[in-house]
Amino acid sequence: MRWPELAFVALTALLGVTVAACGPRRGAGALPSGPGAATGEVWAENLVHPQATTILRAHLDSSGAGDVRVLTRAFYATHADEYDFLYLLPATLLSAKAAGRLVNASSEHRPWLNQPGPWHDAEFGSKGRLKAVIGLDAFPLANGPALHETFHHWGVFVDAKFGFGVGKGTMFGPHWGFASVYGQLGGFQRASLACQGGAPLPCAAGADGRVAFELGTSFGPFANGGDSIPYAPLELYLMGLADATEVPSTLVLDDATLDGIANDRIRLSASGTHEVTVADLAARHGAVPKATQTEFRAAFVVVSEEPLPREKLAIAERWARRLGGAIDDPPGLSFEKATGGRARMSLRVSPKP
Ligand SMILES: [Zn+2]
Repeated sequence: MRWPELAFVALTALLGVTVAACGPRRGAGALPSGPGAATGEVWAENLVHPQATTILRAHLDSSGAGDVRVLTRAFYATHADEYDFLYLLPATLLSAKAAGRLVNASSEHRPWLNQPGPWHDAEFGSKGRLKAVIGLDAFPLANGPALHETFHHWGVFVDAKFGFGVGKGTMFGPHWGFASVYGQLGGFQRASLACQGGAPLPCAAGADGRVAFELGTSFGPFANGGDSIPYAPLELYLMGLADATEVPSTLVLDDATLDGIANDRIRLSASGTHEVTVADLAARHGAVPKATQTEFRAAFVVVSEEPLPREKLAIAERWARRLGGAIDDPPGLSFEKATGGRARMSLRVSPKP
């Protein structure tokens, strides 16, 4: 069975406030081309397939005209079934509708995430090890959305009653939306929220019954910071990597709208607010158990119709080495740093024995 795919069209502007969907295209700028693997280690594979770009573009555009399972089956013809995540990248920027997109390949039974299971789709070519395939079109910027897309394996799928990813007349899919999470899947910094004009909360409602707020820091309803910010405590909790006691209560704005920018401050308004605690989530879905897996394995795969010279893989290799923690390459974080050292992801690629 194939679980519903996640696809979100990138937004570059919403009511004058720049936001990013599944990963920003702008931000930290391009990583300079590195020397690649100097030790014989492989950090990015080149998968050659006659429909490689067509399939990856269709995946990122969510057009239904391509199937990444064709590419992953080709990958497994020459690689062992020992990867939790496969990242597919184009040889050059595609400028597809989404900068990144995840499709799950399997799942355990995870009621605490509102995710049924266990299931796995054998059409990906994995016997069940593979968790998800992630298309990335941020290449060659290389600052996300790898961390963002990876988290989509865990969320956000909790009951809509909690109000995550919902604005007034706007849906942000499985992202935090107008919530004080400030993580890889969006949300704002609670300490930055004030009443419009700068007074601290609580704010009085206007004549129309709506409450006007402002934020002094950047805010994306879908995403924040590319690969440069760590997972939020609530995100770590949902991954089973943080204890409930580490997660602050989340403030959610009800029926919120983005109303533009004035004096370098983002203006928002809402009909009210409510709080969501991990106890609230646990009461609905059950408590998130401590993760049984904290060591992950993944591979960056650059797809093309013709074999690429090794130097064309240099940016992908450097990105993989940074995500895998083999090099320090700010502003992007490794998966280990993004999880606060609670989990690691190896991105070394091995040929099939
Ligand atoms: Zn997303």
